[in-house]
Amino acid sequence: MSLKTPITVAHGDGIGPEIMEASLHILAEGGAQFEIETIEIGEKVYLRGNPAGIDPSAWESLRRTKVFYKAPITTPQGGGFKSLNVTARKKLGLYANVRPCVSYAPFVDTKHTKMDVIIVRENEEDLYAGIEYQLSPEVTECLKLISRPGCEKIVRFAFEYAKINNRKKVTCFSKDNIMKMTDGLFHKVFDEIAAEYPEIVNEHWIVDIGAAKLADTPEAFDVLVMANLYGDILSDVAAQIAGSVGLAGSANIGTACSMFEAIHGSAPRRAGQNLANPSGLLLGGVMMLVHLGQIEAADRVHNAWLKTLEDGVHTYDIYKAGVSREKVGTKEFAQAVVARMGQKPETLKPASYSKDAVKRKEWTLKPTPDVKVDLVGVDLYIGTREHNGKVFGDKLHHVSHDGLELTVVSNRGVAIWPEFMEETFTTDSNQCRFTNKAKPGTLVTQKQILALMDKVVDAGYDIVKIETLRNFDGKSGYSQVQGQ
Ligand code: NAD
Repeated sequence: MSLKTPITVAHGDGIGPEIMEASLHILAEGGAQFEIETIEIGEKVYLRGNPAGIDPSAWESLRRTKVFYKAPITTPQGGGFKSLNVTARKKLGLYANVRPCVSYAPFVDTKHTKMDVIIVRENEEDLYAGIEYQLSPEVTECLKLISRPGCEKIVRFAFEYAKINNRKKVTCFSKDNIMKMTDGLFHKVFDEIAAEYPEIVNEHWIVDIGAAKLADTPEAFDVLVMANLYGDILSDVAAQIAGSVGLAGSANIGTACSMFEAIHGSAPRRAGQNLANPSGLLLGGVMMLVHLGQIEAADRVHNAWLKTLEDGVHTYDIYKAGVSREKVGTKEFAQAVVARMGQKPETLKPASYSKDAVKRKEWTLKPTPDVKVDLVGVDLYIGTREHNGKVFGDKLHHVSHDGLELTVVSNRGVAIWPEFMEETFTTDSNQCRFTNKAKPGTLVTQKQILALMDKVVDAGYDIVKIETLRNFDGKSGYSQVQGQ
C-alpha cells in the first residue's frame, strides 16, 4: 500500500502555474509524500462556457482526496461568473480560513518587526453568501447572513487553534454597534465560547478601530477571529504590512475536506515572467503537511525557506537594496530553498511543528434551543417614483387589512413617514412596515399578510420584496427604523 497521501492539485491562472511548480518541487525535495491528482479549474473552464469555473470530474477528485492544494485563479470580469474560491469553500464545507501573517525582520523590510498574528476568517457566510438583488432601477441589495452554528463553528475553531498552538489571546472584530443582529450574534457567540476557555485571554474590538490598531500596532494581537468580509480585507492588510501579500499562505479547514492556498490572487500582470514569489503558496503547502501529519517534512521545508529569507535571497516583491543580497526569480528562489534543505535559520525562530497541532478536537454544535416564534407583521418593499415620503405614505396608509396597518415607511433604513424631512435623500424603493398599530405585538397569520399584499397590489403598487416580522421568545427579530 502506498504511504503517499492523495491530494488534488490545481495549477491555476496567471502566476499560478509558476508558483505551483516551484512549491511542489520544494515540497517534494523536503520529503512530502503526495500522490497528486491534477484538475483544471479557473479561467479556461469559465471561458469554455462553464459559469462555475469547475467541471464535475474535478469535484469528483476533490471529494475523493478531500485535500485540495490550489494555486490562485482568475475570475473573468463581467456578469455570470461566480467566484470559484467562494464556491469551493462553501461546497466543501471549509468553514475556517486560517491566515498567519508574520514579519521576518530584519530580513524582510517591514515597519512591524514583531508581528505574528493568525487571522481566523469565517469562510461560508456573511456578505459572501453571494445573494444579491436589484430591487429597483436605483437600488441593489446584498444579504449579510450570519447564523448561530456558523458563528459557533468559527469561534470555537479559533479558541481550539489558540489552545493547540499555545497562543495566549483571541480577539474578535465585529461591527455590532451598527449591525446589532448579525454582528451582534457573532459577538454574543464569541463571548459564550470564550467563557469555556478561561486560560485564554479574550477581547472584542469594533472592527474599524480594531483595523486601525492592527495596521499600526499588530504586535498587540495574537489570534484574531472575524466574519468573512472583515477577514478578507484585514488579512490582505496584515500580510502586506508584514512584508508582502506574496508571503502569506492560508488553510481552509472543514470537517471533511481542506484546501490550502496563497492568500493573494493570480497577479496576471506578473504572469509568465518568472517573477512571482512562491512563498505564500509554499507556506500554504506547509500548512497542508502539518494538517496531514507530515510534520518532519513541514519542519524541513519551513526551515529551509526561513534560511533562504535570512540569506537575503529574495524575489522582487520583498527585495530591498541594503537588506537583500540577491534578487531572484521564481525558479531560482525554489532552487535556493531546495539547496538549504536540512538547514535552520540562525536568527529567525525555527519552525518546530508538533503532532498535536493536527489533533483537532472534535466537537458537536450546541443544539438550537426551542424558541417561541411569533409573526407580528410584514415589511413590504415597494418600488416608487415618489420621492416625497409624506406624499407616498399618506396615500399608501389607506391600504390596510384586518388590523395590519402602515406603521412606518423608511428609505434605505431611515424613516420618511409619518414624518418626512425635506433634507432626507430618498431612492426609488421604500420599506413599508405593516403591523397592528393599536396593539403592537399582536399575532398575525401568513394568510392575513397575503390578503394585505393583494390589496396593496390592487391599489397599484409594485411589491419588490417582502420580509416578515417575527418575535423570538418575545424579543424583536427585526431592526427598528432609524429615526422612527
Ligand atoms: P492579486 O493578489 O492577484 O495581485 C495584486 C498585486 O499583488 C499584484 O499585482 C502583485 O504586485 C502583487 N502580488 C500578488 N501575489 C504576488 C506574488 N506571489 N509575488 C509577487 N507579487 C505578488 O490581486 P488582483 O490583481 O486584485 O487579482 C487578480 C486576479 O486574482 C483576479 O481575477 C481575482 O479574482 C483573483 N484572485 C484570486 C484569488 C484566489 O484564487 N484565491 C484570491 C484573490 C484574487
